[in-house]
Amino acid sequence: MALTGLEIFKQLPRTNCKECGFPTCLAFAMKVAAGQEGLDSCPHMTDQARSALSAASAPPQRLIKIVGSQGEFSVGQETVMFRHDETFHNPTGVAILVSDALGDDEIKARCEAIKGLSFHRVGTDITVDLAAVQNTSGDAAKFAAVAKAVSEQTKLPLVLISSDAAALKQAVEALGSAVKPLLVPTDGALDSAVELAKSQKLPLCVTNPDLEALSGVTEKLSADVPDLVICPGDLPSPKVIEYLSIARRAALKKKCRPLGFPALVYATDSDPAKAAIRASSYVAKYAGIVILDTVEPWAVVSVLTTRQNIYTDPRKPVQVEPKLYELGQPSDTDPLLITTNFSLSYYSVESELTAARLPARVLAVDTEGTSVLTAWAADKFNPETITKALNDSQAQGALKHHKAVIPGHVAVISASLAEESNWEVLVGPKEASGIPSYIKNDWKP
Ligand code: SF4
Repeated sequence: MALTGLEIFKQLPRTNCKECGFPTCLAFAMKVAAGQEGLDSCPHMTDQARSALSAASAPPQRLIKIVGSQGEFSVGQETVMFRHDETFHNPTGVAILVSDALGDDEIKARCEAIKGLSFHRVGTDITVDLAAVQNTSGDAAKFAAVAKAVSEQTKLPLVLISSDAAALKQAVEALGSAVKPLLVPTDGALDSAVELAKSQKLPLCVTNPDLEALSGVTEKLSADVPDLVICPGDLPSPKVIEYLSIARRAALKKKCRPLGFPALVYATDSDPAKAAIRASSYVAKYAGIVILDTVEPWAVVSVLTTRQNIYTDPRKPVQVEPKLYELGQPSDTDPLLITTNFSLSYYSVESELTAARLPARVLAVDTEGTSVLTAWAADKFNPETITKALNDSQAQGALKHHKAVIPGHVAVISASLAEESNWEVLVGPKEASGIPSYIKNDWKP
């Protein structure tokens, strides 16, 4: 049975020293009770209190770390079934498969392609997180050499997949002790891989399509190998989603510890579009790591975009600094466009202008990170707030004209804004995608 924040608080030193990163012991206790913090963050707890609390206060899903040569990837420790209940915490890891059956030049090209899978969207870089090296050659020495080469070339944390525990061991040795890959033993190699995971303190993936049988295995294993990842293996997509959903619900709602681990799934398909659709579905429904075998940028970016949307914190509007932005070194006759400081609104405008190579100024009005229509409905994007933003930005000093373009969705405020601000107000397109043709065809300074 889960402990309440007060029950945990009673066992803490209650000195409010802040070393755990929280202002008070009570705040820390509430986070532990919610499963969002581990007891290890308090260095002053007595061993007696720690052992009394540790089992009951452990997060319902374990946090797993996979360490690469230049950074680590963390997954798990999720606390809610639905994003809007709170937020999702550790984004699904997107891994790209590399077969060790490829030749040296093909491995090099694959690594270069993986390194290129980095995209800039709504002000954030979104990238793949892991490389998954698969021992399809059946040659342990080749597998070890490829794992080392992929680690060195991509610098990413690794997932090592093999049906041969000896090959996994050779690859782990080749990588060196600082690198801590996730071991994925397949086809009956689990028992032999357990020793390796235990001795090297590595995370280990347990594959079993039957959740009941899987929980029996993880319950026994977790004493020796606490960092486990679960995997349904090769199931049809609807079954994978069912598997992921049942495991998440059992861990979070029923406190089923044997299923309280992140899940790894494969979204491999000869058709990259189908692979991307499957991967995006798994990201939306509780996958901890998704393995793709495509390096098509258009396919991978769609999965990363889904992940970015799902793992943004719904409690914090994603916003840009409210100010006047200059895009493409605008002259004093280029247009001034007005939008809100909601990231998606601003970057939609920015990306259209940048892609069309149209210089312009964009005034992002402070609407507390809400979109144009939401802000207008909440009376945060109105003639007064826009006029204040225009005056504060001193846009007029940079312009020969006295014209401001507002989004077509708020055409209704154009007259009152003109009166309030003394600017000539033009009504632009409703969607950002219409901005380039609007500027080319309708804009006159
Ligand atoms: S580190 Fe421990 S004692 Fe200090 S504030 Fe946090 S919970 Fe309290």
